[in-house]
Amino acid sequence: MANPKLDINLSIIEDNTRQIVQLAKSKGIDIFGVIKGVGGDIEIAKAMILGGVVGLGDSRLDNLKKLKRLKVPLMLLRIPMLSQAKRVVKIADISLNSQLEVIDRLDKEAASLNKVHKIILMIDLGDRREGVLPKDTLNYVDEIRTLKNIRLVGLGSNLACFRGVLPTEDKMLQLMELVKGAEGLLGRKLPIISGGNSSSLPLLLKEGYTPITNQLRVGETIILGRKVPSGDKFSFTKLDGIKLKAEVIEIKNKPVNSDKVNGDSNVNNSLDEEIRRRGILAIGSQDIEAKGLIPCNKGIIVEGASSDHLIVDLTNVQGVMVGDEVSFRLNYSSLLRAATSPYVKKFYYREDDRD
Ligand SMILES: *Cc1c(COP(=O)(O)O)cnc(C)c1O
Repeated sequence: MANPKLDINLSIIEDNTRQIVQLAKSKGIDIFGVIKGVGGDIEIAKAMILGGVVGLGDSRLDNLKKLKRLKVPLMLLRIPMLSQAKRVVKIADISLNSQLEVIDRLDKEAASLNKVHKIILMIDLGDRREGVLPKDTLNYVDEIRTLKNIRLVGLGSNLACFRGVLPTEDKMLQLMELVKGAEGLLGRKLPIISGGNSSSLPLLLKEGYTPITNQLRVGETIILGRKVPSGDKFSFTKLDGIKLKAEVIEIKNKPVNSDKVNGDSNVNNSLDEEIRRRGILAIGSQDIEAKGLIPCNKGIIVEGASSDHLIVDLTNVQGVMVGDEVSFRLNYSSLLRAATSPYVKKFYYREDDRD
């Protein structure tokens, strides 16, 4: 069997999607499924669609292009490169934006293709990643409304992505004020208030909370079942949608400390002689981020990785042998890397309880 691999349980991903879609729907919110964490994987995208997302989002045009045949609305999440404006208009139905010169170019390209391109204007509510500052928002809206081939369909924000600023009710109220101002300028309603990512979901569980947003863009909590940023399980989701498996290629009892190069043999003390049972797995930092791996077997400790070797401590586990597969859950950045590594194979299945 090919190793290393991602074992992908599409039933869990579909079910996680359904749970989140239903929770959001009860609050009047649509969910866009975000697929960039798995390199635009089409099978996972299909599972999200079965689970009820209204569209799919990815930060890369190459991924969106693959998804075009699924015939659902596609959203470009990373603000576009000026040099790719034409491709953006061709591939994406809607894009998130924050730069006027880019929006101008999108307008020109849309005109040449005889299209109207939809945009959401991103507002930086304090996370300091993309977005227009609140004080500049209405000036931007004023400029955008003069563009004939651009349709401003909403305002959006992105929190907890860079500085970890969380979506609080205060931040959402601030967004609401800007939406009202923009609607005043435009003389029409803005259909979309795109509130954020997985980190916004816990707010929906708060007693009596009435959200201002009517759209969320959710990747991590659907795919990994994890709450952002804590990484704990989210209510209603399962954690085992994706597991990484890698094969053991060496097991040996070894001293904990490395031999000293040019060492003075007299400094060897008894501490140096602690012996641990070490394993090496055939996967490395080309494929994963070692600190983002969570062994399913709790006794296994991840020590670290070089480009092609993952070193684990097996002292506290029984029965792991050379040739065995070791399973891990992943955090988002480890998943990103594994899903885009050409060396990691993907296996899809659909029963709910395989192991
Ligand atoms: C990645 C991304 C998301 C999804 O984030 P998750 O934490 O995976 O839910 C949403 N919006 C934007 C703009 C993104 O870049």
